Amino acid sequence: KSESKPSSQGSSGATELKKTYTTDGKEKATFVSLARNSDVWSLASSIRHVEDRFNHKFHYDWVFLNDEEFSDEFKRVTSALTSGKAKYGLIPKEHWSFPEWIDKERAAKTRKEMAAKKVIYGDSISYRHMCRFESGFFFRHELMQEYEWYWRVEPDIKIYCDIDYDVFKFMKDNNKMYGFTVSLPEYVATIETLWDTTRAFIKENPQYLPEDNMMDFISDDDGLSYNGCHFWSNFEVGSLSLWRSEAYLKYFDHLDKAGGFFYERWGDAPVHSIAAALFLHRDQIHFFDDVGYFHNPFNNCPVDADLREERRCMCNPKDDFTWKGYSCVPEFFTVNNMKRPKGWEAFSG
Ligand code: GDP
Ligand code: MN
Repeated sequence: KSESKPSSQGSSGATELKKTYTTDGKEKATFVSLARNSDVWSLASSIRHVEDRFNHKFHYDWVFLNDEEFSDEFKRVTSALTSGKAKYGLIPKEHWSFPEWIDKERAAKTRKEMAAKKVIYGDSISYRHMCRFESGFFFRHELMQEYEWYWRVEPDIKIYCDIDYDVFKFMKDNNKMYGFTVSLPEYVATIETLWDTTRAFIKENPQYLPEDNMMDFISDDDGLSYNGCHFWSNFEVGSLSLWRSEAYLKYFDHLDKAGGFFYERWGDAPVHSIAAALFLHRDQIHFFDDVGYFHNPFNNCPVDADLREERRCMCNPKDDFTWKGYSCVPEFFTVNNMKRPKGWEAFSG
């Protein structure tokens, strides 16, 4: 038995989305956090936010992944905070190292140039391994195999509102595959050739793009160029089958062979976003307008006062980034013919 009440917000389009408020019959779903041992206290805070606002009711598992062995302290602190099973996995070396076809000297030269240009994380090797891992490997980890859905959680994030329904059931029941809270353009300097590399893939594999894909969200000229809009991947609620699909596995392989994770600094956010926009039906991508989210330096705070009260949000809507000029969410609403929430204009300046 599952009980549903209509969603209080109509901003997701004309169709009412189904929400389930009971806790019986859990989905095959888990939280997943990639972290270093030194992230333990920042992550502890994130876990507390997620548990207090959502998971204390649902008790979904939590998978922690690291390129080094987790310390006893990390395990003790995090497993005391999680209400579902906590699992700790080591990332296999081949998922966190330079593939043999990468020219390490060329990669080193890139890092120097990017550092000189003050590109954020431009000189970092580990950040590149992180982006490549989140793009192509997290969903292949042994500990992830039993799950169909995931929610990615990073250190030092905040959840501002109560989430009183099962978000994984929500995704499944409404045929959603990818959910996000924040969207903005990527730094061009980090992805100079990502779009041309993607175009080459699409040209060879047009069969992976459904007719109703969301190309118009990521390109303003019908696919000629990338406008940089991406879903911020530090928050993701999604289906693992999207990343395990033939289309995505081939796409990732194509990108990986091109070397841009190391010769540039391709982020997992633009990679995931381009794939979601191209390989999914447009209505399979969901904007979570009701979670209330923070990851430095951006806030998502619902602008609808009734919703904020009903869900006990603790954010100031003046800080909301969603409707500001630099956000890509307004464009997401436009290309999908969605109705913007009441009063959004007041928070757009
Ligand atoms: P930012 O949000 O782009 O500034 O990057 P973060 O520093 O938050 O890193 C993204 C995610 O990867 C976070 O969950 C980090 O804990 C994790 N992470 C980053 N670098 C490493 C690393 O070298 N090793 C491990 N195990 N995790 C990392
Ligand atoms: Mn982060």
